[in-house]
Amino acid sequence: MLIKDNVTIGIEWRFGPDWPGQRCGAKTRRGTACQRPANKKNGRCRLHGGASTGAKTQEGRARISAANLRHGNFTKDKLEKQRKNAATGRKVRAEIKLIEASLIEQGVLDRNWRKDWLMP
Ligand SMILES: [Zn+2]
Repeated sequence: MLIKDNVTIGIEWRFGPDWPGQRCGAKTRRGTACQRPANKKNGRCRLHGGASTGAKTQEGRARISAANLRHGNFTKDKLEKQRKNAATGRKVRAEIKLIEASLIEQGVLDRNWRKDWLMP
């Protein structure tokens, strides 16, 4: 804040030159130490602190996972269930095919029985 005669230039800032707290101190592009107030966690300001390293606790990780989940159609358990259902379907269709073949062989079903079949 600059005071000239009866005019005050600039806005008052609580982290001015007399502020007693910890400064960031990172090397700026000008070569001087950064004067911004430091964060308590890492001792650097918000411009020099670096990227977040992510959630640490199980609770935090679960919260992020829940926030990014849209419908859950591709979660591990759902995919496993779909694979299991597909395998069951394949098994059932193979059994039906075997039964059909055996019925045709025994003469119960005509070879072209599908032609006469009336689908509802
Ligand atoms: Zn800084």
